[in-house]
Amino acid sequence: MGSPNGGAHDVACGRGAGVDDFRYRCVIMEELAREALASIHVGLTCHDDIVGPYLRDLCTDEQRKRWLPGVAGGEIITAMGMTEPDALIHLMERLPRERLALAYFAQTVAEHALAWTVEYTRTRKAFGAPLASLQNIRSKLAEMATEIDVTRTFVDAAVLALNDGELSATDAAKAKWWASDMQIRVIDTCVQLHGGYGYMMEYPIARVWQDARIQTIYGGANEIMKEIIGRELAAGG
Ligand SMILES: Cc1cc2nc3c(=O)[nH]c(=O)nc-3n(C[C@H](O)[C@H](O)[C@H](O)COP(=O)(O)OP(=O)(O)OC[C@H]3O[C@@H](n4cnc5c(N)ncnc54)[C@H](O)[C@@H]3O)c2cc1C
Repeated sequence: MGSPNGGAHDVACGRGAGVDDFRYRCVIMEELAREALASIHVGLTCHDDIVGPYLRDLCTDEQRKRWLPGVAGGEIITAMGMTEPDALIHLMERLPRERLALAYFAQTVAEHALAWTVEYTRTRKAFGAPLASLQNIRSKLAEMATEIDVTRTFVDAAVLALNDGELSATDAAKAKWWASDMQIRVIDTCVQLHGGYGYMMEYPIARVWQDARIQTIYGGANEIMKEIIGRELAAGG
């Protein structure tokens, strides 16, 4: 088995197709989001988007041979503890990929949450008619669909920029804070439209609501993302 990333580790290990394309990771994120499996997504991001590239790019050949086959094959599960000022420049170079993964997951979870909610409001009847027959409900659905579609454009562009080696720290920070804030706004509305069922863990909407809350905190809190963007603006960048 190659890495889910589709090539980063494969190249170093001499396995797999050797294609380094972040869209392979996106496919996996979409499937995990469909099943509301955020914890697996977080583990995979740590393993494949954060630790993997450090090992690939910064190790000696001997270290790569020792670690990468097990990392790519899944026999070794990685973890990391970041401290400053160690290796600060290396962090700066590789954090955009982690932040984009969090943004992409936010995007795809929001899309699934809206799809579940559209289905729910089309079938759930209140006072003799489906919820979706009420103008206010349709208006909420429209607002969410618009936010999601607009965010999708930015996030997809960031994925292509990463593939081209051109995703800046600033654009990754924009994608991360905006998409994770959007995810929470959308899912909160979806929970509301599910009524009491939206608060029951048997429903995926309740699980993604709980899982979404961490997205604005880890990977660099969203306040820090805005600081990265704001500092560049203030410096005239
Ligand atoms: C599930 C999970 C997984 C994690 N995985 C990892 C991992 O694998 N490796 C790793 O190294 N770390 C990991 N973390 C740590 C994570 O990156 C930190 O929790 C996060 O960066 C916030 O840091 P903190 O908890 O120290 O909060 P603090 O720095 O104490 O900040 C608390 C809050 O204050 C606000 N704040 C902080 N600084 C500023 C500022 N300058 N301006 C304005 N507001 C600010 C923000 O709202 C922030 O959320 C993980 C955390 C969680 C919850």
